Order: sequence, then structure tokens, then C-alpha cells
Amino acid sequence: MSTPIPATLIPGDGIGPEIVDAALAVFDALGSPFEWDRQVAGLAGVQAHGDPLPKAALDSIRRTRLALKGPLETPSGGGYRSSNVRLREEFQLYANVRPARTIIPGGRFDNIDLLVVRENLEGLYIGHEAYIPIDGDPHAVAMSTGVNTRQGSRRVLEHAFELAIATGRKKVTIVHKANIMKALTGIFLETGQQLWEQKYKGRIELDTVIIDACAMKLVLNPWQFDVLVTTNLFGDILSDLVAGLVGGLGMAPGANIGTDAAIFEAVHGSAPDIAGKGLANPTALLLAGAMMLDHCKLPDLAARLRRAIDETLNIDKVRTGDLGGNAGTAAYTQALVQRIKNG
Ligand code: NAD
Repeated sequence: MSTPIPATLIPGDGIGPEIVDAALAVFDALGSPFEWDRQVAGLAGVQAHGDPLPKAALDSIRRTRLALKGPLETPSGGGYRSSNVRLREEFQLYANVRPARTIIPGGRFDNIDLLVVRENLEGLYIGHEAYIPIDGDPHAVAMSTGVNTRQGSRRVLEHAFELAIATGRKKVTIVHKANIMKALTGIFLETGQQLWEQKYKGRIELDTVIIDACAMKLVLNPWQFDVLVTTNLFGDILSDLVAGLVGGLGMAPGANIGTDAAIFEAVHGSAPDIAGKGLANPTALLLAGAMMLDHCKLPDLAARLRRAIDETLNIDKVRTGDLGGNAGTAAYTQALVQRIKNG
């Protein structure tokens, strides 16, 4: 039995508790070493503590530095800021890592295995925005300021290179718009090229591409890419684009890696339309769990989990409704547990 690893567990809202319960059953079958500290956040946090990101949840992550979270809803009204953005800032989660891998063959694009690494704290998403009134129109001009720093660029680029090498990838592509946004995205490109020259040349291939060309190439021939690393806004768009190549957000996991913590989640939201009906697909959260196992240097357990998911979906053909199947969350979870026990 391996040493327990303390980790914070936030079920979240809507289908969150259902998919988290499914994930716990699967983790138990795997014999994962996580020792969960269950905390509430999102609407559940408002109901329990009057705050979508209660102090107890923050303190728990500060202690464990590791979390698995379900989707969080930000209550409309009441002036609440997004809990996801607050988590990013609080724990300096500078890298958002989104793998896109074909799991169910036969879609529009087969054999996709891409990784998008998005800078998560800087760029055009820092929220420095203003209006300039002209001739009585208070919103005549809208302005937004982006900020990218050399240090902020360097740490996310370094994460992308290190992750690419550690996972046996061949190439890192820096995606930018330095021909137009010469300062804002030029600094990211230049920092990446210098870093590669200094530390990674000979260890991994480097390529660069302009964002608009990248979007076209991803649709025409996604197999030419491997790891894509880019600034905040471009990364936000590209990570959804690559999720679309492998069948949408329902199967997409994400990791937020920071100096002070690492938080793993499904990319989808709380799916209020199916919450409480036992229909939710827990695969994205489970794939986030596999990323968490990799992060904790437990690649064998991560591989067993991914294999059980592949086999349940493709050999047993047990699938939830969003994937065209007729299994509910419980039946799908049971099939996964059986696969793990048999495997
Ligand atoms: P959503 O992802 O919750 O739902 C979009 C559609 O996909 C719905 O039809 C839903 O039923 C379906 N779906 C999503 N996940 C599914 C799953 N695991 N299994 C089966 N079907 C699934 O997007 P939305 O409706 O725009 O957002 C709902 C709420 O979630 C909002 O309050 C939003 O702010 C929040 N949200 C949170 C996060 C997060 O915490 N990371 C991310 C996105 C949205």
C-alpha cells in the first residue's frame, strides 16, 4: 500500500457530486493513494458558508497543494467573482494543460493526440478594461490592455517543454501573433525561442506558427502538431478547438498547474439540464484524475485508468447518453470498476 497523498476534493454544482461519486468509486477500485479532504465551493459554498470559495476550501488546497474539482457555478447577482478565476489567482495557476486524444474512433478526426498548454494568468485576460465617453455616449470607445511578462511567459513555456519531454513528445509549437501584436505576443515568442536555445535544443523540436494559420492547419491536418503552447486568449480558443477535434467538451479534462498548487477538473460545466437524473458522463473528470495521477508520479495507475476507460467505451461499448449510449452514470461506473478489477 503506497503512502497516502492528501488531496482536496470539491464536488461542485449540478452534476458535480454525481461525477465525483463515480470518480471515487473508480479510484477506490484502482487502489489510488489519495486521502480526500472534501470541501464545498460554487453554489454549494454560497449555501453552506455564504461564499462561492469558502476559506475552508482555500485552506485545504493551501495544505494539500492538490485538488480534484467538479464544475462550479458562479451565482448571478450578489457581485460574486468567478471561483475558477479566483482559484487561478490565489494559487498562481499559470499553466492550463488540456490534452485532446481520440478515445472513440470513427469520428471526424481519428488518432488525435494533442496537448495545448495555455498561459493562464496574463495576456488580454487581466481585466484592465475601460470606456472613453465621446459626445454623450459613455461607451463610445472600449479599451482593453494586455500584459505579458518575460517571467510569466518563461514559466509556462518551461512547463510546456518539460512536460513534452517527460511524456515522450516530439515537438513543441509556439503559437503567437507577433507579426501584429509585436510587443504583447512577441515577448512570448522571443522568450520561448531563447529558452529553447538555452535549455531544450537537441532534446525536443521547436516550431512556431501564427495563430490564424494554426487554426486553419489544426482543421486541415491536426496530426502535424504535438504540443501547442500559447498566450491566454489564443489558448482559451485553441483548447476548445482541439476538444472539438476529438468529440467535444464532454470528454475533455484539464489541469491548472501553479507555483502553489495543481487543480484538476473536467472542462465541461455543471450541466444543470441533466443534474440529479443519473445521466452524467464522468469520463472527463476521470481523465482529469488520470492527469492528477501522472502529476503525482503514478503513471502506472494513470495508464490503468485510461485503459479501463478505453476498454469500457470501445470493447464493452458501455456509454452514457451524450456518447450515443444508453447507460446511466451508475451502470457506466460499474462497468469501469469491473474492467479495473478484471484488468
Ligand atoms: P455545460 O458544460 O454545463 O453543459 C453544456 C451541455 O453539455 C449540456 O447540454 C449538458 O447537459 C452537457 N454536458 C456537460 N457535461 C456533461 C457530462 N459530463 N455528461 C453529459 N452531458 C454533459 O455548459 P453550460 O450549460 O454553459 O454551463 C452550466 C454552468 O456550468 C454555468 O453556471 C457555468 O458557469 C458553469 N461552468 C463551470 C465550469 C467549471 O467550473 N470549470 C466550466 C464551464 C461552465
